[in-house]
Amino acid sequence: MQPQLLFFDTGSGPRLVSVDTERTVYGPRTPCPVDPRHILPGAPLTAPSLVLRSPPSDLFVTDGLDRMVTGRVRDIFLEAGITGWEAELVGARYTGARAASLGEPPSLWRLVTTGWGGIAPARSGLRRVEGPCPGCGKQVYRGALDPSRLFDCERWDGSDIFMIWPFPAYVWVTPRVADVVRANNLKGARLLSLADPEARVFAAAAELGVGTWRLSNYMPRDRARELGTPLGIA
Ligand SMILES: [Zn+2]
Repeated sequence: MQPQLLFFDTGSGPRLVSVDTERTVYGPRTPCPVDPRHILPGAPLTAPSLVLRSPPSDLFVTDGLDRMVTGRVRDIFLEAGITGWEAELVGARYTGARAASLGEPPSLWRLVTTGWGGIAPARSGLRRVEGPCPGCGKQVYRGALDPSRLFDCERWDGSDIFMIWPFPAYVWVTPRVADVVRANNLKGARLLSLADPEARVFAAAAELGVGTWRLSNYMPRDRARELGTPLGIA
């Protein structure tokens, strides 16, 4: 199986989408009890709410880096039996001069990856060089990374949509998902092979060092505990 990366539309020109700061509540940034240099970002206390300047793509990413899909995409994924994700309904409203004429936005859902592709194998060139911190879970990975070797079939749980650690913000998909995206002509989706020269962004990041928090910062808590406890990253 050769997975592909699924990129979500970031909008262009005047910002298309942003988190509605009047309606989305974040907890305070918290210092780590063990190492005060580790400052955890404030966790959202409410589902994000969005403001849009124009009708959104089928898939898009907000300025808060949440991955969003329309109700149409959610229905297509459900009908196709695609595994490895959950979706949380979010609020949205239009803003700007066209707001009145645009009516109501489509239903929008935050896509949460629950599928697992494992921790990047040593043969990828990436190694953990720091952590996990006992206070906050911070970890740093570094190395001369070959992105085409990030995926290890042995570590993959078989989900159609999955995450490879330590890159929780990226969405990996099976060829089946890629086919569904293309067959339905989903707007805002871009697929990239790990052998593509553009995937070198992972290598550039790995040279500098890739930092993450606990898995539960990126996944539902129960799922993070199930996957992350044996690996020490829950
Ligand atoms: Zn810490």
